[in-house]
Amino acid sequence: MSLTGQFATRAARMKASEIRELLKLLDQPDIISFAGGIPDPAMFPAEAFRTAMAHALADGQFEKSLQYSVSEGHPRLRDWIVRHMEGLGVPCTRDNIMITSGSQQALDYLGKLFLSPGDTALVGWPTYLGALGAFNAYEPRYDRFDPRGNRSAADFDAAAEGRVKLAYLSVDFANPTGVTLTAAERQGVLDLSEALGCAVIEDGAYHALRYDGEAQAPILALEIARRGSIEDCRTIYCGSFSKTLSPGLRVGWVCGAQDVIRQLVLEKQAGDLHSATLNQIAVAEVAETLFGGHVAALRAHYGARRDAMLAALAREMPEGVEWTRPEGGMFVWVTLPEGMDGAALLERAIAEERVAFVPGSAFFADGTGRNTLRLNFSSPDEAAIDKGIARLGRCIARQGA
Ligand code: PMP
Repeated sequence: MSLTGQFATRAARMKASEIRELLKLLDQPDIISFAGGIPDPAMFPAEAFRTAMAHALADGQFEKSLQYSVSEGHPRLRDWIVRHMEGLGVPCTRDNIMITSGSQQALDYLGKLFLSPGDTALVGWPTYLGALGAFNAYEPRYDRFDPRGNRSAADFDAAAEGRVKLAYLSVDFANPTGVTLTAAERQGVLDLSEALGCAVIEDGAYHALRYDGEAQAPILALEIARRGSIEDCRTIYCGSFSKTLSPGLRVGWVCGAQDVIRQLVLEKQAGDLHSATLNQIAVAEVAETLFGGHVAALRAHYGARRDAMLAALAREMPEGVEWTRPEGGMFVWVTLPEGMDGAALLERAIAEERVAFVPGSAFFADGTGRNTLRLNFSSPDEAAIDKGIARLGRCIARQGA
């Protein structure tokens, strides 16, 4: 007996990717993996969390920390985030912030808020796989959005039959490309959203992890400068503590106009009531205690790994291979010569050279981009990067030959 015939139509859009299945096989010690996308656990501020958790669980505190709490999120944490957003050029109040269980939940809730079946979401080609996963359940159509491209609002509008609801962008050192939007491109996104009347979902998950170059103001900051108040903005900013403090605690946030936040709070009440109280309290204390210093240490740590990867690529990649030079984040995006297939290369790379990566087609809403791949540099150390990229270079050279 099976219930699969009874699943809602949206279930058909929720599929495990073949690549995810393949990557499960990677837990073998002799494989050097550039496939992950996770922080280096050596950099978790474990001692600070031990202290914060002990405080939160002490007599006089545990009564609150272990209790249900409000759907908007813990006030102390929201106040820290207000100060943080102000530091990014986003003046706002506690009422503009809702805490989410990781920024992934924000993407799910925003998809639920804006997308009816058949509506269009503008996404990068490629884009963050988890955004496609979150939005898919709401049965949208996708259209290819490149802030560096020159498609007009009228063109997008015609293709979507007037139903462009949102544009989603990973703006700083994007996952998967490592690319950061310039200020002019951010302004272009605002112009387009204004012409289309659609929401801009700004994914700032990697914002703090900048290793060089000039910090860019969030699109939300630019929109507030245009309109005067966050309450008149179409941009909704998704932030996360996953890349800075801990992904396992699942604490992120959404920052936007109060009428959007109020609706998201209703979704949160229906979804999971609130994010874990204890985790929010611990994150608030740790952020208050060490956020700035810790981020500086992360920048030095991951910046050295980024440098090692770019140097190894320059040394080891055969002619015809191109790659991005990210100013931060965790990823380098590689374009292989036309006709070469990233998935086929992965199979050979694992079998012959014991090195792994994510084939790029997974990040394209239409499964194109077969000659691309994503390399992660936050997990492997410099020695593994040197060795692994040499292996990958050999494998590509053989495949190309
Ligand atoms: N956005 C981007 C661009 C990401 O890469 C990730 C995590 N890989 C997320 C959002 C979700 O992260 P979290 O839910 O842990 O905040």
